[in-house]
This record gives sequence, C-alpha cells and structure tokens, in this order.
Amino acid sequence: MSGPDLPPARPAPAPRGMIRIGRIAGTEVHVSTSWFLIAALIAYLMGPRVDQVQPGLGGWKYVVGLAFAIALYLAVLLHEASHAVAARRYGFHVHSITLHFLGGATAIEGEAKRPRQEFWIAVVGPITSLLVGAAALGLWFVTPPGLLRLVVEGLAGANLIIGVLNLVPGLPLDGGRVLKAGVWAATGRVHTGTVVAAWGGRVTAVLVVLWAVWSAGAGSVVNPVLLCVVAVFLWTGATQSLHSAKVVGRLSAVVASDLARRTLAVPDDLPLAEAVRRAQEARAGSIVTITSDGRPIGVVDEQAVKAMPEDRRPWVPVSMVARGLDDGVTLPASITGSQLVEAIRRTPASEYVLVADDGSVFGVLATADVARAIRQAG
Ligand SMILES: [Zn+2]
Repeated sequence: MSGPDLPPARPAPAPRGMIRIGRIAGTEVHVSTSWFLIAALIAYLMGPRVDQVQPGLGGWKYVVGLAFAIALYLAVLLHEASHAVAARRYGFHVHSITLHFLGGATAIEGEAKRPRQEFWIAVVGPITSLLVGAAALGLWFVTPPGLLRLVVEGLAGANLIIGVLNLVPGLPLDGGRVLKAGVWAATGRVHTGTVVAAWGGRVTAVLVVLWAVWSAGAGSVVNPVLLCVVAVFLWTGATQSLHSAKVVGRLSAVVASDLARRTLAVPDDLPLAEAVRRAQEARAGSIVTITSDGRPIGVVDEQAVKAMPEDRRPWVPVSMVARGLDDGVTLPASITGSQLVEAIRRTPASEYVLVADDGSVFGVLATADVARAIRQAG
C-alpha cells in the first residue's frame, strides 16, 4: 500500500525495471525483473525434487519447476487482487499490483479514513491465501502421487505460509496493518496505530535476524541469507511507515485558518475603484465578492485588476474582475492537515475561500502558503 505521498499526487507511469503483464480486477499488474531471478532459482531448486517424483524427465524437470514458480506467483497475485478488490469497494483508486521477488504489493491511492477500512483491506489478503492453501491441501489428499501432487503440495505449503507470515503483527506486513487498525480503533489516533505497528515490524525484523543467526549455526546456507534479505525488507518497510507517520503528524500542525490572508468581503456590484480603496484601507491581501446575504460568490483576480485601466475602475463593478467559485474551492475554515491536503488534491486551485461556521467569509487561503507551511513543518 502506498504511503501518504504529499501533494501533488502524480500517477506514476510504468516504473523502471517493471514489465506490464496485464490487468486483474481492473488493476494493472506489473512484474519486477527481479522476479525472473527468483523464478529461475525456484526452478533450479525444484529440479531435483521433480526428478525424485518423476525420474527420466531430463531438462524438462526445470520446466516443471518453472511452472511451479508461476503457479506460486499466481497465488500471490490472487492475494494482492483481494487487497485491490477490497480497496476499490471502499472507493479507493487502486494504482497497480506489482509482483517482485519477495512477493507482491498493491499500490492504493490515499489512506484509509477509518480503522474498519484499514482492517478489511489488509486482512482479506491473508484470508485469501489461507483459503487457497486450505483448498490445495484438500486437493492434495485426493491427488494420486506424481507431478501434479507435487505442485499441489507446493501450492498448499506456499499459500499457508504466505497467509500465516503475513499475519505477523508488524508493518509492512498485512498483520501490521491489522494491528494498526486495532490501535487506531482503541485510541482514536491513526498516528499511534502506525507507530505501534511500525515498531512491531522492526521487532519482527530483529527476530528474523536472530533466526538467521540460529539457522546458520544449525548448518544451513541458503536460509540465513534469505532470512537476512527478509529482515532488511521488514526493517526498511517499518522505517518508511514511521517516516510517513511523522510527516502526517507534522502535517496536522498545518491549520488553514492560521494561514488565511486578510480578506475583504464586498457586495459584487460595488465599483472596482471603491473595492480596491477599501481593501487598501483594511490592508487586505484579497477581495471576495459576496451576495446580499453574505455568501461568497467570487474571488477578485489581482492580475485582472492590474489589467483594468485606472480611469475605468470607478465605472465597472468588482464582479467584472472576479472569478466565480467552482465546487471545491470554498473550504471550511476549520480544515487542517491531511484533510486540507486531500481537499487541495481533489480540486486543485491557486486559492480557496475559507468559510466560517456561520457561512460568512473567513479569509482567502493561497495554495502557495499551504505548500510553504508544509515545507516549514518538515
Ligand atoms: Zn497482503
């Protein structure tokens, strides 16, 4: 799942080192080139085992191994697709599914708004893997010994392992997001949930390193290296989650009403010259036009005012140089942090009109000021 990338959110094109293989459940699927390495490795490791079950295949034993690797990653794809389907049901835009050598990832735009969403989007993945694993296990009992049974056995084992390991309560694993949802629900603070779950991920990484040390002592060679790779993957993912939680935390210090420019509200039929005179007198940075009952209807465009010859200004209404307010450019004055960023992302504009609880004009918020405040908070 993608972190809270700060504005503006640009849809990334097909990333480097990725090959697009198609779509599943309406989502682009990319395969990282590193996957081919692991597929070759799986084929190589499976070869002797295939030979054992079905001797005399020669080089074809590696083809069977490769077929197994593909089946394994189809299972991973199913796991990721379930995340994608759950996220879409909650109305999130799912960017892509990526298969890489340690499994897969689903890039979802935006963050869960409630613990319940976070929980379900995360938990469906392991549930899917466990169900597929259980189905394969059932199939194993009725499959006669041979190559097919070997593949079914591998699928059952792999899916059950993927399902169980992903439930380990540490970010970036699904179990970490389940833990995050739980802490979030209990404390009401998403930030606390992320921090707890990220530390869960770091502790898991340390445990995996200890496991690697232990299995190296036990004489195995491949496992310790693989375990160390997994530990690095976990530590890096957990650290990224902590970092983005920090960014979101700082973001909450960005308050729209603090950033509002001093604004003068004038009736929209007032002569422009008079509006400018009043604005200068009030030292207002912007002018908003309002209806007779005080509702904002436009923002005066500075460039348009400058373009209007001085001698015409007394004769034109201020509405002549005002831009109408489209949907989404009036925001509640109380809006803050990530909600503010989200609102800007939804309706990009250079400025917004902040409206107080009673519907009156609070001030004008310039997007440039928000960007500066975010930079300073960081
Ligand atoms: Zn997952």
